[in-house]
Amino acid sequence: MSERKTITATDAVHAGEAKHKPCDAVAMPIVQTATYSFADTKEIVSYTAGHHPNPDRGEYGRYGNPTVSVVERRLAALESAEDAVLFSSGMAAVTTSLLALLRGGQHIVLFEDCYRRTLEFVREILPRFGVSYTLLPSGDVGALADALRPETRLVLSESPTNPYVSCIDLERLAAACRSRRTVKSMIDATIATPVNCRPTTFGVDLVVHSATKYLAGHNDVLAGVVCGPSGLVSLIRDLRGVLGGICDPHAAFLVGRSLKTLTLRVRHQNASAMLIAEWLQKHPRIERVYYPGLPSHPSHAIARTQMAGFGGVVSFVVKGGLEAASRVVDSMKLALIGPSFGGVESLIEQPAVMSYYEMTTEQRAAVGIADGLVRFSVGIEDAADLIGDLEQSLAAV
Ligand code: PLP
Repeated sequence: MSERKTITATDAVHAGEAKHKPCDAVAMPIVQTATYSFADTKEIVSYTAGHHPNPDRGEYGRYGNPTVSVVERRLAALESAEDAVLFSSGMAAVTTSLLALLRGGQHIVLFEDCYRRTLEFVREILPRFGVSYTLLPSGDVGALADALRPETRLVLSESPTNPYVSCIDLERLAAACRSRRTVKSMIDATIATPVNCRPTTFGVDLVVHSATKYLAGHNDVLAGVVCGPSGLVSLIRDLRGVLGGICDPHAAFLVGRSLKTLTLRVRHQNASAMLIAEWLQKHPRIERVYYPGLPSHPSHAIARTQMAGFGGVVSFVVKGGLEAASRVVDSMKLALIGPSFGGVESLIEQPAVMSYYEMTTEQRAAVGIADGLVRFSVGIEDAADLIGDLEQSLAAV
């Protein structure tokens, strides 16, 4: 598999970690401290003047932590980036990055079909600071040239998107941004993971993840990360030190531990999701299946060129609308009902009654959310068991 598209299992286990660790531990120790001590005032003076023999030593926990740094180095290696900065959640990563990269009077381009809190931040919070935005149809790179303005500084898209798992042409997006010297590109690659796609290898500047999903992968920790060139990442890291969204050392340890099994988990989830998508597509009670691995998906051709696997999220529309889909969700025995994805436990949700519950059917249709839409996050259970679970729940409709 091309190095552009995927990572090695060896890097997932070892990248960023010293061979010999403190106390001869094999596992990376958790440096659970809020602050760091100095031998004497002279040491503080040499540190603040930038002459300390170890410029990486800690000062205060909001600025950095050795356990956090190890995970940052591994994620940078996995994303083929110079540096990475770890946050307490995906939204802390997104919001801190946008605030670090944009000033009043500047402009951001965002693509539709993205995480609704990212959309909310761009539409409702950034304008308070004088930052304007343009919202483009999901995946429409062709519309980018006209949307870019002299004051545009950032273009942000997910790939694949949530919940319709559409992919954007990363090479074209990156090239369009690079044609304007001042415009940076940023991809939220949460659904892809570096196992399935590495946007920087297509020329994208920054990659952001909700590490809560596949990177941490066990539905038990919130985290986020931004990877990219060291100049941009250090701007974002500096603002993290002000806004305070650094990842806690224990959560960082859990992310680092989970990264060791990332390739195993995601490749298993890719294979199971493909089988499930193909099975659902033939089911008489299913109106439509959205999975980029299926030739019927609108972005299948792009996904094939830039992804090593198609991920573990399968969305589908149940015939019969809101109630029929709720019946399917409620009848699942293995998959838990919940609003996240990417973990070892399969999760299922109906966006119409979860993220979009406050809208009417017509309002949901206007933002492209069908009442019968179900998002299935495929875990690491046996695919045959998950198909069996879907079979019995669809029989209940
Ligand atoms: N990006 C995507 C694609 C997401 O789906 C989410 C959350 O669901 C986020 C960002 C935000 O991440 P977090 O929940 O870790 O803050």
